[in-house]
Amino acid sequence: MTDVSPASHDRPLNGRVALVTGSTSGIGLGVAEALAREGATIVLNGLGNPDAIEATRKDIARRHGVAAHYHGADLSKAEAVAEMIAFAHERVGGVDILVNNAGIQFVAPVEEFPAAKWDAIIAINLSSAFHAIRAALPAMKTKGYGRIVTIASAHGLVGSPFKSAYVAAKHGVLGLTKVVALEAAETNVTCNAICPGYVWTPLVEKQIEEQALAHKIPREQVITDVLLKAQPNKRFATVEEIGALVAFLSSPAAQSITGAALPVDGGWTAH
Ligand code: NAD
Repeated sequence: MTDVSPASHDRPLNGRVALVTGSTSGIGLGVAEALAREGATIVLNGLGNPDAIEATRKDIARRHGVAAHYHGADLSKAEAVAEMIAFAHERVGGVDILVNNAGIQFVAPVEEFPAAKWDAIIAINLSSAFHAIRAALPAMKTKGYGRIVTIASAHGLVGSPFKSAYVAAKHGVLGLTKVVALEAAETNVTCNAICPGYVWTPLVEKQIEEQALAHKIPREQVITDVLLKAQPNKRFATVEEIGALVAFLSSPAAQSITGAALPVDGGWTAH
C-alpha cells in the first residue's frame, strides 16, 4: 500500500496537520519547528505568557510559511484535551500527526511524595495522552493516515530514585503506545514513543537548580555527577535531534515502525 499523502519532495508534510502538546517550550517547541519546516500546519499547545506564545505562533508561521494555531488546553483536565482535538478538527480539518509531549516533573522520596503531585503528573504525563489519542484516533483511522508520537523518557524503560510518579507515568505511556499501535495496525496509523535521556530544556534547567540547592554543590557538578552520570556519551541531546526523529516517524518511510519505544539517550538504557 502506498501512502496517499499530498506530500512534495522538499516539504514532505505539506497538507498534514500536526498538533504538539506542550509546544510553548523545550522539546515540544523543537518538534513543532521541525514539523513546520517539513510543511505541516501546526497546532501549538502549552502554558505560558500569552504575548510570548502569540509571538512564537506568528514566528513559526512566518519563518516556515505554514499556518500555525494555538489552543491553551490545560492537559490535566480530560474535557480540555477533548476540546483541543475538537478545535483542531473545526479549525484545520483534523489531526494527522499527534505529538503527546507535555510533561512535568517532581522529585521526592516515595514516602514523602505529595499525593497532589502524583495526581498531576499522572494526569499530564499519562492520562492526557490517552484522552488525546482517544479523541484523535477515529478520524485518523477513517482517513487511513495517522502518526502518533509520545515523548516518553528513558524513565519509561528504567527507574531512578525519587521520581515515582514520573517513572510510573512514563512506563504507563509505553504500554498505551503498544496497545494503540496494535489496535490501529491495519489502518496506516502508527503509534510510537521516543525515550530521551537528558535534553537541555527549561524542565532540566529547573532540576539543575533544585539539585544544586538540595546537595549544596555547584550547577556544573550537578550536570556531571548527577544528571549525566548515567548517560554514557556525557552530552545532553538537543531539541533539534528529537524534532528530527518525530519528523522521520511522521514520514512515509516510517510506515512500518509502530509500537516502538525508541531511546535517544546516549546509551543510558544500554547499561
Ligand atoms: P518543558 O518544561 O520545557 O516543557 C513542557 C511543556 O509542557 C511546556 O510547553 C508547558 O507549558 C507544557 N505543560 C506543562 N503542564 C501543562 C498543562 N497542564 N497543560 C498544557 N501544557 C502543559 O519540558 P521539556 O523538557 O521540553 O519536556 C517535554 C517532554 O519531554 C516531557 O514529557 C518530558 O517528560 C519529556 N522528557 C524531557 C527530557 C529532558 O531531559 N528535557 C528527557 C526525557 C523526557
